[in-house]
Amino acid sequence: KIRTRFAPSPTGYMHIGNLRTALFEYLIAKHDGGDFLLRIEDTDQGRKVDGAVDVIYETLKNVGLNWDEGPDIGGDFGPYVQSERLGMYKGYAEKLVETGHAHYCFCSEEEIEEQRKEAESLGISFKFDDPCKHLSEEEIKERLDRNEPYVIRQTISNVGETSFDDEVYGHIEFDGDLLDEQILLKSDGFPTYNFANIIDDHTMNITHVVRGNEYLSSTPKYNLIYDAYGWQRPVYVHVPPVMKDEKQKLSKRNGDASFQDLVAAGYLPEAIINYIALLGWSPETEQEIYSLEELIDVFDVKRISRSPAIFDKDKLTWMNGVYLRNMDLDTYYKLVKPYLEKAVKGDYDFREIAKLIQPRTDVLNQIEESVDFFDHLRDYDLEMYRHKKMKSTPEYALTALREVRKALESLDSFESEEQVHDTLMALPKELGMKNGQVLWPVRTALTGKQFTPGGAIEIAYILGKDEALSRIDTGIS
Ligand code: GLU
Repeated sequence: KIRTRFAPSPTGYMHIGNLRTALFEYLIAKHDGGDFLLRIEDTDQGRKVDGAVDVIYETLKNVGLNWDEGPDIGGDFGPYVQSERLGMYKGYAEKLVETGHAHYCFCSEEEIEEQRKEAESLGISFKFDDPCKHLSEEEIKERLDRNEPYVIRQTISNVGETSFDDEVYGHIEFDGDLLDEQILLKSDGFPTYNFANIIDDHTMNITHVVRGNEYLSSTPKYNLIYDAYGWQRPVYVHVPPVMKDEKQKLSKRNGDASFQDLVAAGYLPEAIINYIALLGWSPETEQEIYSLEELIDVFDVKRISRSPAIFDKDKLTWMNGVYLRNMDLDTYYKLVKPYLEKAVKGDYDFREIAKLIQPRTDVLNQIEESVDFFDHLRDYDLEMYRHKKMKSTPEYALTALREVRKALESLDSFESEEQVHDTLMALPKELGMKNGQVLWPVRTALTGKQFTPGGAIEIAYILGKDEALSRIDTGIS
């Protein structure tokens, strides 16, 4: 059974790239009927942010990536928060020391820095050559007894060529002797990420490790540790980065939108998740709109691309619009009501306004601006009546508006959109004018805007008789 895990560090927001990794992990597990786990990697205490874990929970729930085991729901392989697992790493590190795959290192930062500088001055690439590897057992014991601070480092010697197969990047070979002898256990007793990920993945029975391709070059070191314990290596799925353009990675730190930012800007979680599924992965067909269920069905690791994916906000915006237009009106209305209530204070039928804007909304935060004319008529000048294609001029407009006023006034109230439609559409013929010569001025007088969702008839109907007449009066005067 496939078991994958999402292992975010709690930073307080969800990177688009991280969410994409979580999605791929979820899809790989679920496509196979497997388990998707959540593990919180919080051993970097310096980076701790209050409430950050809740952001992770909320994001995953919001997009429907429900985990089968995790800190809040438990499971057979807990605890699922790294800081609650601290007790176990030291023992595992010491086991590696016993078998010669790791060693105590008492070197200070300065000593390492000295070596680095020397390498630099000689113009050679730096690989720390740890003198502590040559300490005798007695000496090590003595220094440990003296409580000298130490770290435990991975010992890498004479490994020669080392290789592994990645599901995305294929067969990968490294010269093992160039690998650096990374720290596994820090002097404060905390494991490094490089060590903890191995222990955790193994003890949680993770079968597929899915992560960013920046980890590709570390993987040979992890493999040596799996081998040292005699553990089976996991299947590796390294994914390409999500970029903002050809050169730069998408990054919250550089001001790019996180998942939270996108939701706040009016993007739908289901559209976001659909869009990011296509970042670095492509289905066999041309289909672009997928529910999570459908993604589970069609997802195939073999179709993850090696090349970086560029985050295209316009495409996401388009896709969000598709989701909004495909909703039934009730769902859409519920969604946009708060935006409408914020933008429009008048006593209108908000459901009708929702109907009007649904075909024309791509992102929810466009709504306020697009419906503001219901709230208040904007100042406009007569030149706005001029429209070449409609053959409308300020002069024609005044004639048309006077007639429109008369016709609308004769109605008791606006009973239906058809009624307003029939009343207005009778006029051009009567007056010997083009439709546009009547409707363009009406729309302008009713809204004061050049661009509006819907036309004169729909807008007049929603405004109602009194408001429509009063705005037309303003237009005439
Ligand atoms: N905590 C690591 C990160 O956020 C996890 C990497 C991994 O999936 O192993 O980058």
